[in-house]
Amino acid sequence: MPRLYLPELSQYERGDLSDLSRRELEDLAWRFREIARGLANRLGEDSTTSSRPPSSDDPYRRDQRGGTSAPDRDGSSGQDTAAPDVKAALAKASADPGRMPVKRPGKRPGMPGHWRRQPIVVSQQIAHVPPVCQACQAPLGADRKGRCVSAHHVFELDRGEMGLQVIAEKHSYFVATCACGHDTVASPGVGLHARIEGRKRDLQLSERCLVGATLAIFIAALSLRFRLSRLKIQEFLLDWLGLELGVATINRCVHEFGRASEPMVEELIQEVRTAEVVHLDETPWYQSGVLLWLWVAVTANTVVYRIGSRRKEDLIALIGQAFLGWWVTDGYMAYRDHPRRQRCLAHLIRKALALAEGYYGPGRGFGRDLVRDLRRLIERVHDGDNDAAVKRLLARIKWNCQCNEHEVEQKVRALAREILNDWDAVIAFVANPLLSPTNNDAERALRHAVIARRIGFGTRTDEGSRFYAAGLSVIDTCRKRGVDPWSHGRNLIAAARKGSSLPAIPAQIAA
Ligand SMILES: [Zn+2]
Repeated sequence: MPRLYLPELSQYERGDLSDLSRRELEDLAWRFREIARGLANRLGEDSTTSSRPPSSDDPYRRDQRGGTSAPDRDGSSGQDTAAPDVKAALAKASADPGRMPVKRPGKRPGMPGHWRRQPIVVSQQIAHVPPVCQACQAPLGADRKGRCVSAHHVFELDRGEMGLQVIAEKHSYFVATCACGHDTVASPGVGLHARIEGRKRDLQLSERCLVGATLAIFIAALSLRFRLSRLKIQEFLLDWLGLELGVATINRCVHEFGRASEPMVEELIQEVRTAEVVHLDETPWYQSGVLLWLWVAVTANTVVYRIGSRRKEDLIALIGQAFLGWWVTDGYMAYRDHPRRQRCLAHLIRKALALAEGYYGPGRGFGRDLVRDLRRLIERVHDGDNDAAVKRLLARIKWNCQCNEHEVEQKVRALAREILNDWDAVIAFVANPLLSPTNNDAERALRHAVIARRIGFGTRTDEGSRFYAAGLSVIDTCRKRGVDPWSHGRNLIAAARKGSSLPAIPAQIAA
């Protein structure tokens, strides 16, 4: 008997076995056992038992490895797993005695401190004189300027024509005496804040800040858009711009942008809810090691992210209860009951491709036909070919699925039934030119965050998750509308520090 190659897995029919001798049967059984053992071992491998990276581990099995129990599964299928309430999961994880003791980030008590080693060379002096009298509202000119009451340094980034330069400014605040006799004192503005019960130091945005708004948005860009860790940003600023900043200051800049973006996101969500077509997708996310989900909603000119559980409620929080437009989604159950929906065909084509290339006997032909027909359908509809050809194609796909919905092979049967059960959502794009046959818009939007998750393992706190999602929403919406995200971000941070009203993201500039 020739050596068994894997392609022979699909060539053996049950009838062939009766022709084999006992000895040959034993040999064959043993070879199949060796193949099965090898595959079973490979299936059980993860980052702790092979050279695969931790990011490739199954999100549901990660927690079991770490000694804590996985979030409760509602069990119906792998796709249909809802994480429990986010707060409960986080509380459970932190209370679990089997979990590694959590070391607080930052310096240990008693460690020697760090001081600034660079002298600050001031290149610009800025004087703040109150413009009007507080008592009588009379305008105050520079000639009314009295003594200086306070001053602070600000590092700012100068975005020149061809280069970047860090400069130091000195901001001085003066008293001005009015003709009415009242002394008005100029002081730095105080704006948005983020308070959390029991936290040692809360985030308060203020103009009295070592890092200027442009430099702050530059740091936020390095973190959110270029996926650098706080330590890498510190290294970059020192090596390339000769600027020494502490990790806490860098973290503060990233959070300031997140905080300033939060009210913007409220507006963006309103725009998503009134859109005609919304692309939706979700991907695993970790918050201090607990499995959560990052949702994204993409419309023609808005992108909104949200970190939460995989439950329907979190989807509703993003898209609203009474959404009237179309959804473009994958096959996840939470999307299924929305009546106006387009199923992503790229997912179905991938599943069909797996059948075509796997060991599925006659199911392979079904897979091959499905891949060919679905691709052709997308092309025909895109080119606006004649209706008759499209109708023939639709009929063939449906008939092909009906022929295979009682196939013995489980995966073949499942795909055929999946398409038939969701038929209206599979072909919605044929009749509606607004719909795209794939969900690539949302998947492309998530791609960036998936890479960030693989580098940084998600966020650490509730606040961090909110700020991360808000920051990304503003950056991606600006990019989608052809607006420079960084000058808008700068204005956002400046307004949030001053306490003035936040600038809205301009409507589409580039078509
Ligand atoms: Zn006055």
